[in-house]
Amino acid sequence: MKKLDSASRIQHLLQFGEFGDVNPSITDSSTFTFLGANTMVDTFEGHSEGCFLYSRHWNPTNKYLAEALATMEGTENAWVTASGMAAITCTILQLCNSGDHLIASTTIYGGSFAFFQNYLPKFNIEVTFVNPTDLEEIKNAVKPNTKLIYTEAISNPLLQIANIPEMAKIANQNNLKLVVDNTFSPLILAPHQLGAHIVVYSMTKFINGKNDLVAGAICADNEFINSLVNVNNGTAMLLGPALDPLRSSNILKNLHTLHIRMKQHSYNAMYLAHRFKEMGLEVSYPGLPEHKGHELMTSLMDKQYGYGGIIAINLKTKQKADQLMEKMQAKGVGYLAVSLGYFKTLFSNSGSSTSSEVPIEKQHEMGLSPGLIRFSVGLDNDIEYTFSLIKEAIQENQSL
Ligand code: PLP
Repeated sequence: MKKLDSASRIQHLLQFGEFGDVNPSITDSSTFTFLGANTMVDTFEGHSEGCFLYSRHWNPTNKYLAEALATMEGTENAWVTASGMAAITCTILQLCNSGDHLIASTTIYGGSFAFFQNYLPKFNIEVTFVNPTDLEEIKNAVKPNTKLIYTEAISNPLLQIANIPEMAKIANQNNLKLVVDNTFSPLILAPHQLGAHIVVYSMTKFINGKNDLVAGAICADNEFINSLVNVNNGTAMLLGPALDPLRSSNILKNLHTLHIRMKQHSYNAMYLAHRFKEMGLEVSYPGLPEHKGHELMTSLMDKQYGYGGIIAINLKTKQKADQLMEKMQAKGVGYLAVSLGYFKTLFSNSGSSTSSEVPIEKQHEMGLSPGLIRFSVGLDNDIEYTFSLIKEAIQENQSL
């Protein structure tokens, strides 16, 4: 039998709704009835397959989406959360107890960095930050009480590429879990297939792709997902970031067009990256051969989806970056807004927005310029025209 790629696995997953509905009906219930009182007891104890108890635990609509995500990722199971941060924080708090240690990449989304740096000390969980491209540094950071290694597959906003197979080796040799945030590269990279134990997503971004909701996902084996929703000590069950089933139903429909969207985001981003380079701008895009992670990414990726929709350009100062972003918005290139994975182009100055939680000295240390503009390139049908607008804005900016 032909081995199907991630998108084809989703395409061939048939989920029959209650009434034969092709989009499974939305289960608009927080609680569920039992005909026999004993079945309720069994369900509480996790012994009653197919029965639903309460929607903070599992809801049928959330289960359809979780099943589709697990199918995409190639994991045994998944659980969907009310935000990407909920997926990250529940995963970490499930794996670590007070007195434990974890290794995290420094170059991650600012909210994740703030959780590791500012929030975990409350629970006496120690974090060592490392450069995700330096495998020796990662190896040397392992301690007897280390529980996990955390990285983004493509880092935000520096677009470093994590060597997931090598990180997985380090994790396996030391009995650690490798947790990978794949928000920037769904379908392009398949972290679990490359060795990661747990894959987390902000579905707010590419997976949903509409910027109309906030959601997250945790893809892992049955043992981990069941531990998360254990009624007595599961972090997801007890902290309670359940996703609204109405939202789940929307995301499930949008997941089915993800493969087409990722190809167009990547096509447009590659086009802009080349044009920016020709203009002599300092541009970072993993699809360009001079990008430090280009070869590694080429060896890990599913090539049909391209190198992703995120590009960064460095204008050196925040003032220049701000001026250019305002001009681009005025010309209709897209929106000056945080977030990514939207059908329109979004741009923001990372240092003062999505990475502002990272202290300035650390931003310098990791090579994050105050003038960096991160573009989440949209689904523009005529990217040449969009580029002509950006070029005008850049030229006007230079003459200031
Ligand atoms: N992971 C990455 C890479 C992100 O960029 C973000 C948000 O920007 C998150 C996680 C957090 O996701 P959410 O905003 O859905 O909580």
